[in-house]
Order: sequence, then C-alpha cells, then structure tokens
Amino acid sequence: MNALIGNGPKTIITRFAPSPTGYLHLGHVASAIFVWGVARAASARVLLRMEDHDLGRCRRDYEEAIFADLAWLGFAHDNTDFRFAVNSTYRQSDAGAHFESALSELIASGQVYACNCSRQEILLRNRSANAEELRYDGYCRTRGIPLDAPDVGLRLQIPTTELRFDDLRLGMQTQTPALQCGDLLLKDRHGQYTYNFAVVVDDLRQGINLVIRGEDVLHATGRQLWLADKLGGSDAISYFHHPLIMGSNGQKLSKRLLASAIASRRLAGEDPRVLLGEAAQAVGLLAAARPLTVLELPQLLSTHFLKRGRSNGGI
Ligand code: GLU
Repeated sequence: MNALIGNGPKTIITRFAPSPTGYLHLGHVASAIFVWGVARAASARVLLRMEDHDLGRCRRDYEEAIFADLAWLGFAHDNTDFRFAVNSTYRQSDAGAHFESALSELIASGQVYACNCSRQEILLRNRSANAEELRYDGYCRTRGIPLDAPDVGLRLQIPTTELRFDDLRLGMQTQTPALQCGDLLLKDRHGQYTYNFAVVVDDLRQGINLVIRGEDVLHATGRQLWLADKLGGSDAISYFHHPLIMGSNGQKLSKRLLASAIASRRLAGEDPRVLLGEAAQAVGLLAAARPLTVLELPQLLSTHFLKRGRSNGGI
C-alpha cells in the first residue's frame, strides 16, 4: 500500500466527509471501508468531517445517527489530533470565518461575479445541451451586478483549459470544467457555501493530502484542484476514487438494499460485522460476503490492490 502513497516521513491525512442530509447507507459503509482500510494500512490519520454546509437539508439527528453508526461499525476517527475539531467534532457550519476569508481572497483576484440566474433560467438556456451536468453559460459575467446585491449567488470565472490529474486508482484523468459546469458557484442565492467551495477550503486548511472518495464525484475533481491551486496549493493532494457498490449479480445494488438505513439495522440488533462484509462484497473487495471487522481492512485492501496491480484497477 505504501507504494501507492509513498512511505516518506510525511504524515498522511485523509478524511471521511458525510453530509448529514440523511442516514448512512451501505454505499457510505463501502466508502468508509476504503478510507479506513487505506488509512490504517498507510498509518494515516482520518478526520471525520460533517459536511453540513447546506443548512436547509442537514439535520442534527442524522449527524447523531452517523456518529453512532460509525462507532458501532468500528470506524474510529482521529479528530482529537486536529486542533480545528471542537470537542472532537468538526462541522462546516462552524467554519464560516474560514470560508469568508477564502472567499475574500478570490474576490480580490477580480474573477468573482454576482449572478442572479435561477436554476430554471439556466436550464431553459441550456435546453439543447445534452450534458450530464448543468453548465452555467456565463450569462451574468459581464452584467456588473454588485456582489452584495440581495439574492445573488457568487461565481468564479473558470478558464477553458483542460486539467489533468493522476488518480491513484484510475490513472491519468482529463477534465475541462468550463465545458462541464462553467463558472463555478461558490455561494448560492440563499447565502450557502457550495459543496465544491467548502470541500476545497477545508481540505486545504486541514492539511488533507489524500482524498479517498467514490467515483460519483470524480467529475468534480478537476475543478476542485483548480480552485485549490487558486487558493494556494493543489500539489499536495492525491486522489483515490473508489468504485461504487454493486449487487451480487454485478448489477447496480437494489434501491431497497442501498436505501436501507444503517441506523435501523443497528437498532434492530444486527451484527455490524455482517454489514461490513455485505458492503465489502458489494464494492468488489470480497468474492462472497462474510462477517468482517475493521481490523481486517488494511490487510484486505493491501491484498486486493497488490494482487490486481494499478494497470487493471488496483492502487
Ligand atoms: N459530503 C460529500 C458527500 O457526502 C463528500 C464528497 C467528498 O468526499 O468530496 O458526498
């Protein structure tokens, strides 16, 4: 595993960053298996970060259930090692001052503008586009709306250049954010910081140098690296995007199994080792489900990726 992330003197710091907008499901458990498995194999630290930047959708009872689920499954975080984790809990909603100062830095670069387009308007102007993401067309770029006008979002002009990064599992990736999402929304019209902005500010200030997360956010990595670079440092972060979970027949996991909350299985008295085994099997780390403990994860991940090698999907 150290061949993957180097074995120099530098401390490796990674994070698990759920959004408390719902209960944990098996997909999160699969993600946690990768984060803790790689981290413990590489003597890395794991920061548990509650990504509650979208205050309208996040709930404290979800957060409490997430803490309880992770502890029940055996995923112990290292938050006490981090000075910014208050009483060992780190929430984005407590970090407004940091987001504000990063935003001011970007505003000073002269490339941030106010935008009052609604999602509906952007959709209407993009009617013919057959893209996977809704791309902002730069409509407000030259309209000169004051940054402090009411009900405006703030966007950062994104260059048309192609961005390249080497994913530790998937190899070289090429993305052009200007064609994917267009000018990046930093803060929305309701005053909420966006996922891309908050995640980059946090990864930088928390010294995260290894990001392990699902392929569902692979498309956002180019823009995040670009933003990190604008804020003073992207070279330090390596990315590992893990596969998403599949059912036993190789099909996408059934909605029922995916949606079934870990919390209700915990409260029903199930064996957490059975859940870990199910998630490991669904994500392709075990040929057949069997009870599994967190202590076995470093070995499981090392064996799996050493066996497969980087060229065919290994680390
Ligand atoms: N809060 C994000 C999620 O739950 C984390 C994505 C990331 O790791 O960057 O999907």
